[in-house]
Parts: sequence; C-alpha cells; structure tokens
Amino acid sequence: MLLDLHTHSTASDGTFSPEGLVLEASKRQLKYLSLTDHDTIDGLSQITSIPDELIFINGIEISAEFPKTLHILGYGFDQRNVELNNTLKELQNFRLNRNKKMIENMKALGFDITLEELVKEAGGELIGRPHFANLFARKGYVNSYQEAFDKYLDKGKPLYMNKKRLQPKKAIQLILDAGGIPVIAHPYQTKLSNNELEELVVELTVFGLMGIEVFYSQHTRDQIKFYKYIADKYSLLITAGSDFHGSTKPHIKLGMTVEDELLRPFIQEVVK
Ligand code: AMP
Ligand code: FE
Ligand code: FE
Ligand code: ZN
Repeated sequence: MLLDLHTHSTASDGTFSPEGLVLEASKRQLKYLSLTDHDTIDGLSQITSIPDELIFINGIEISAEFPKTLHILGYGFDQRNVELNNTLKELQNFRLNRNKKMIENMKALGFDITLEELVKEAGGELIGRPHFANLFARKGYVNSYQEAFDKYLDKGKPLYMNKKRLQPKKAIQLILDAGGIPVIAHPYQTKLSNNELEELVVELTVFGLMGIEVFYSQHTRDQIKFYKYIADKYSLLITAGSDFHGSTKPHIKLGMTVEDELLRPFIQEVVK
C-alpha cells in the first residue's frame, strides 16, 4: 500500500501547510497519512477537511535527550490531552528564549536578524534552526540553506545552541498517557551499532515503546532487514514514513510503498 506516517508541515520545519499536505497526499493517492511535526501538534487542528479516500492519523515527533539523535514518533493520541499540551507548551517557551539568545549571538557576529522576521519566516508556532538557515540564505549571508548549517548552525558551530529535550522515558510516557502509540523513528540516526541499538530498543520497550520505523526514505536494504528483525524479535509494530519536509528536503518525496501485511498490525492498533 501507499502511505506516509512521517511528515512535517509549516507548523514545524516543513514547507507545506497541514491542509496542503493532505491535498498532496490525496493527489498522490496515499491511503494513510500522518502529520508528525517536531515537538508540536498545532498543525493537526489546522486540518479541517480530509478526503474520503484518505485516512488521517494524528501524529507527533518528539526529540528525546540522547548523545546523538533519538526521535520518538507518537500516533493516534488524544489531541486535547492536557499533559501533552502543557509539556509541548513548555518546550516551545524554551525555544522562544533560545531563539532570542541566538538572535543576540547573531548580532554579535554582525548578522542583522529580528524576531519579527524569524516569526514571519517560520509561519507557525515552532521556530528552529531551519528557519534561521532560510533567513541567512535569503539575506545573502550564505549561499544556501545548507551552508548556513555547515558554517554557523550545526552542532559545534558558532551560532549553535542546544535545546530542551524530553527524556526518552518521559516522551514515551507522554504519548502513552494521551492514548497514543510510541514508535522509534529512523533508528540509524542514533548512530549506534546494531547491538547497541538492540539494547536501546529493549530499554525503550520497558518504558512502553510499541513500534519501530522500519521503512524510512533514507534506510538502506540492510538497515530495513535489521530493523524488521528487531520488530519481529520484540513484537514491535512496524511503521513506514518518508520524513517529507517539502522544499527544505527536496530529495524526499511524499509517500512510501510497503506490503500491506507488514503494516496491518500498526493500522489495526491505531485505527481502532
Ligand atoms: P532545531 O530543532 O531548531 O535544533 O532544528 C533541528 C532541525 O534542523 C532538524 O529537524 C533538521 O531539519 C535541521 N538540521 C539539523 N542539523 C542539520 C544539518 N547539519 N544540515 C541541515 N539541516 C539540519
Ligand atoms: Fe525536521
Ligand atoms: Fe526525525
Ligand atoms: Zn521527521
């Protein structure tokens, strides 16, 4: 089947509006779509109509505290859950302060960026480094979005600032408590060896992890094979997502084709 369970909109760092994304998914004849913005569910409430042929699933992608990258996807939760909304608000407030400090640091290096410009660039509640990178490129401080990261915004570069992340256990618990399904996203981004990753998955499963993103636009055949083995071994649900961001990641297209049978357990769990 054709589906996409991992996408971003203007509510975080994607370039399609939530409604635009639904239209695109419908145009491409996807059967299932989930919007999984980084640390925000604001985009979900911007979706007011969904075509009959498309099944939409509430989603989020939470950045967890980890040496490299650990993202936890959440599906099918109650959007009105108070704890979820309050926790995401706290993360956003932290970001606001971070952004103000980053603007100060930019001024010190001779770059003139205002909070107003940044807010306009972001067009949504969640503002982060990709929006700074776009502004840098637009203002001619760099030649491209990527150059902004390579020279200034990447970890270890002069304008990088850390952000507040939830502990993995807390991220998983938050999703479970809101009635959702927690899933480990793009496992290779943890940069762990297969053995280490397996240990991590065991640990997260104790916290309540229910699934693993076996199919991902950037996974190699070997990675898919190993993640599928892990899913089988620990009875985890299998998910599939591209990580579509629109024109900020132009190499990633919307939609993934995966055998129905492999996705069925997840679909049954989330659409019940
Ligand atoms: P932030 O949450 O503000 O720290 O921004 C994180 C986002 O920045 C990620 O989701 C990526 O889209 C983007 N990003 C992080 N590192 C890089 C990089 N080295 N090159 C390009 N984009 C990056
Ligand atoms: Fe992103
Ligand atoms: Fe991610
Ligand atoms: Zn993502």
